Amino acid sequence: MTLNTKPATDWYRRAAALYEKGETVQKDTITALVTGGAGFLGSHLCRRLLDEGREVICVDNFYTGRRANIAQLTSHPRFEVIRHDVCFPLYVEVDEIYNLACPASPIHYQIDPVQTAKTSVLGAINMLGLAKRTRAKIFQASTSEVYGDPQVHPQNEDYWGNVNPIGIRSCYDESKRCAETLFFDYRRQHGLQIRVARIFNTYGPYMSADDGRVVSTFILQALQGMDITVFGDGDQTRSFCYVDDLIDAIMRFMEYEEDIPGPLNLGNPEETTIVELAQLIIDLAGSKSRIVHRALPADDPVRRKPDITKARKILDWQPRVDLKQGILKTMEYFDHVLSTVPALHKTASVLA
Ligand code: NAD
Ligand code: UDP
Repeated sequence: MTLNTKPATDWYRRAAALYEKGETVQKDTITALVTGGAGFLGSHLCRRLLDEGREVICVDNFYTGRRANIAQLTSHPRFEVIRHDVCFPLYVEVDEIYNLACPASPIHYQIDPVQTAKTSVLGAINMLGLAKRTRAKIFQASTSEVYGDPQVHPQNEDYWGNVNPIGIRSCYDESKRCAETLFFDYRRQHGLQIRVARIFNTYGPYMSADDGRVVSTFILQALQGMDITVFGDGDQTRSFCYVDDLIDAIMRFMEYEEDIPGPLNLGNPEETTIVELAQLIIDLAGSKSRIVHRALPADDPVRRKPDITKARKILDWQPRVDLKQGILKTMEYFDHVLSTVPALHKTASVLA
């Protein structure tokens, strides 16, 4: 098999495909590749990139992502889906790469920890190789987990973190740290234009109902009047960012003209305890749910809150949606999902 990797030829192939759909494409249209594009954040990002006029190639192996997340995009003339595992090389012609492929919730990334580490590390190597050949600008979805169970509060980008290298969260935390190393080495060694963002807990519509993340789980439990499962005493904190705010920051970061590689903290600094979150969700749902306590998982970070001074200054950005507004929007989404997919009732009861 001969792989066609010539940019011009590839452009004509894509232009011809669009022409068949009755669309024309400008030669200066930016082509963006989104790995993990069928996931929670990836699907929002694909939608936003299309809105901004990009041609979007969504790459996903559907490990945790879902076709339903991108169902409304598949008929878009500038949207294309490739089923592919980023652990293997990919040959496409692109101008920008957004590397989001990786299971993100503790339940999902712990199912197959070796695959999680492979996805982060081999996925980074393959996407960086692609960026090197195409000279594409490349974004990495890193994570607040690189700070582990932080001893500095709030966390700023200069903090090197406190990560257990051999625990149950390590497959995710350490492989994301290694991916950051690779991004910075490719920049030093090959002059790549990189953008590394450390994303803090983000929530919103299109989260997967079965990933066990705290916001989706509590909302599903509250909407169904089930017990709200707080792990430990619930005094641990997180800072939750609404998805639209995060996507806005990612777009600004990639579009920033000057060479700012990051790492840049992206998140909402509004810190809340998990038990406060549970109570807020019960109140907003007008639910009769009770709070029950379950064992705290190993290595669960005690406190987490981003210092976003750098992002505020560089991107002229700050989150706009407060927790209450964001929870209401997310609740509306899950309310709709529950009314259309009765099987979800089972999912939430397993979590309880
Ligand atoms: P998600 O699980 O909804 O999305 C991940 C996507 O990657 C899924 O569509 C999945 O099928 C795909 N994927 C997994 N392994 C793959 C592989 N080997 N090849 C191709 N595709 C693969 O998670 P998300 O919340 O959308 O997170 C997206 C990215 O953002 C992840 O890299 C995650 O580490 C990062 N992040 C997310 C958060 C958050 O709060 N949502 C916080 C920090 C970092
Ligand atoms: N959590 C909880 N009940 C749940 C799910 C999660 O109390 O049903 C807690 C979890 O122990 C953690 C916090 O909520 O302290 C955030 O968990 P999540 O899995 O959403 O994200 P992460 O721990 O990766 O920040």
